[in-house]
Amino acid sequence: MRKHLIVANWKMHKTAGEATEYVHRLFELIQPQHIDLVLAPPFTALHAATQAMKESSGLALAGQNIFWEDAGAFTGEVSAPMLKEAGCRYVIVGHSERRHWFGERDEEINKKIRAALRHGLRPILCVGESLADRERGDTKGIVTSQLEKDLTGFTEAEIADVALAYEPIWAIGTGRAASAAQAVEVHTILRRAVASLWGDKAGQRMRILYGGSVNATNAQEFLQSPEIDGVLVGGACLDPACFATIARFAEELCENERRGA
Ligand code: PEP
Repeated sequence: MRKHLIVANWKMHKTAGEATEYVHRLFELIQPQHIDLVLAPPFTALHAATQAMKESSGLALAGQNIFWEDAGAFTGEVSAPMLKEAGCRYVIVGHSERRHWFGERDEEINKKIRAALRHGLRPILCVGESLADRERGDTKGIVTSQLEKDLTGFTEAEIADVALAYEPIWAIGTGRAASAAQAVEVHTILRRAVASLWGDKAGQRMRILYGGSVNATNAQEFLQSPEIDGVLVGGACLDPACFATIARFAEELCENERRGA
């Protein structure tokens, strides 16, 4: 069984002070043993989150974005070495909000993944189709094209450090989550694509998360599927109690699995 990865994408929410409170509260509610539990605060709250996490084992941090150069005249950007030093182990790359609002293209996302891997950060690559794509029957074509372009040129060993997040654009922040069956269908497409590009072992190893209006009520349904290796949570993660409930489902599933229940 692949280790579950549960990610909180805070987007542009929470100050440094709020981040400290959040981490303390979350750690009162859950101390993960069997899952990877990851928080992605805004850059300005990373330091506070790192400090607050010193007492809390089992939590990790992610950047929400990254630039592909290590340093230079790139106003407003943050590099992989900066994220590493701020305490990040992961970085979200290719989120649909970045593709939409900031015009990020697959070639740039590819360079960002390369920069992350060069510095030992684990990329969480987001792919997903729009409603129009889905209605045209283009879901498979869109997600496999994103996967191929974003990960072109990487070896099987490099791919081992990447996780995918299937995030249908029509489900993000809309309250209209995909059904577990719809998510499984696309996860299966993605896993097959990984296997055909880098071999069966790479396909089997790849963690594929679902993201899009996941909340404390629907999370269990997603997490119960063996094809869904975790969730990427936006809106619902802002309340630590709600995020802890989601993480607890994953933790309990893993515990039961270990006990053979
Ligand atoms: C996201 O931003 O990645 C996301 C899944 O958001 P939400 O959970 O709010 O749909």
